[in-house]
Amino acid sequence: MPAALCGAAWLANAAKSDTLTAMSAAEDINTGENDALLLHMAALPPILDDMRAALASPLPPEAAQFCTHGRAWAATYVATLQQMVLYAETMQARGRFGAMEEDLTLLIVGEYLTQLHYGLPMSQGETVRPADMGFDHLPGHNHEAVKALMRHGNHASRRRKLAALMAETGITEADAGLDETHQMIRDQFRRFADEKVAPFAHDWHLNDTLIPLPLIEELAELGVFGLTIPENYGGLGLGKQAMCVVSEELSRGYIGVGSLGTRTDIAGELILQNGTQAQKQKYLPIIANGSLLPTAVFTEPNTGSDLASLATRAEKTDSGYKIIGAKTWITHAARTDMISRQGHAGR
Ligand SMILES: Cc1cc2nc3c(=O)[nH]c(=O)nc-3n(C[C@H](O)[C@H](O)[C@H](O)COP(=O)(O)OP(=O)(O)OC[C@H]3O[C@@H](n4cnc5c(N)ncnc54)[C@H](O)[C@@H]3O)c2cc1C
Repeated sequence: MPAALCGAAWLANAAKSDTLTAMSAAEDINTGENDALLLHMAALPPILDDMRAALASPLPPEAAQFCTHGRAWAATYVATLQQMVLYAETMQARGRFGAMEEDLTLLIVGEYLTQLHYGLPMSQGETVRPADMGFDHLPGHNHEAVKALMRHGNHASRRRKLAALMAETGITEADAGLDETHQMIRDQFRRFADEKVAPFAHDWHLNDTLIPLPLIEELAELGVFGLTIPENYGGLGLGKQAMCVVSEELSRGYIGVGSLGTRTDIAGELILQNGTQAQKQKYLPIIANGSLLPTAVFTEPNTGSDLASLATRAEKTDSGYKIIGAKTWITHAARTDMISRQGHAGR
């Protein structure tokens, strides 16, 4: 198969998949076609750099907030695409880019490119298009590689092929590229979530009960609250990747349990970066062992993610600060010992 994707082969393929739906999905896409699309993916980095630069360029005069917001969304999609290219390269080099990894990568890349160029759904009612962001087109819209990936990346025949592969092998998850340590962490927390979280989560939800304290104690013993806190402060000294793996696996059981460790991560990092030595010595070890439960307190009833509009104020008093304001949606709020707050100092 030549480097440039053979349009005729794809057209033939599409026709075949439309008319012979009963045919084995694996027959719809052959390896050569995937190879050609992967070559197209290798052409993406400079195009993605151009997209990123365009999204960071000055806004059109009198641009609406929707334009700024849309550009921020689009920039995260571009960053995701950059990471997908890196993932494909790395996994290929390691010999771990199997059929599932390959097809999922092409599906994601095809879909994200299409959304960037034709409409990105920010919510059910908000789709941002290039014109909303101040562009006739985003860079790369006419590039052969982009067109081929948009046309054939997230194609029905690929989705069928992938579904057939999953049904055949019983494996529904791609190799995420984790190293041995992180894979072990994943396995351990998957077992934990399967045994100790998932069977009970629906009852906690229906009865509106708090996560049982014995479970929180078990999580503390497993090191969940000190994952990213350095070892000299009683933590495990692992990185954000470990935090992601643990949060993902616990969230598989129940999102309410999966989000618990992220609160200690936020508080721990704030203290590590900005605290005095005395504060670090005092708080980090008890955050790490779970005896002090912190929260992250940003959202307010009328200003959710719009942090610039927060109304909460901190007033200086003789003994410290008096905090005035209302907060909502706060994870751990019923049990917390400490808050990481965002608001304004003074009035
Ligand atoms: C299970 C759960 C746990 C949570 N835990 C916490 C917690 O521990 N601490 C905490 O502080 N909060 C917490 N939250 C709150 C959560 O972070 C907020 O729901 C989030 O900030 C969304 O805020 P929002 O209501 O403004 O909705 P959004 O969806 O962010 O915004 C509402 C609308 O405004 C649009 N919009 C958003 N930003 C912009 C922008 N810059 N420009 C233009 N339009 C924009 C969106 O597209 C959307 O249509 C939790 C929420 C849930 C569901």
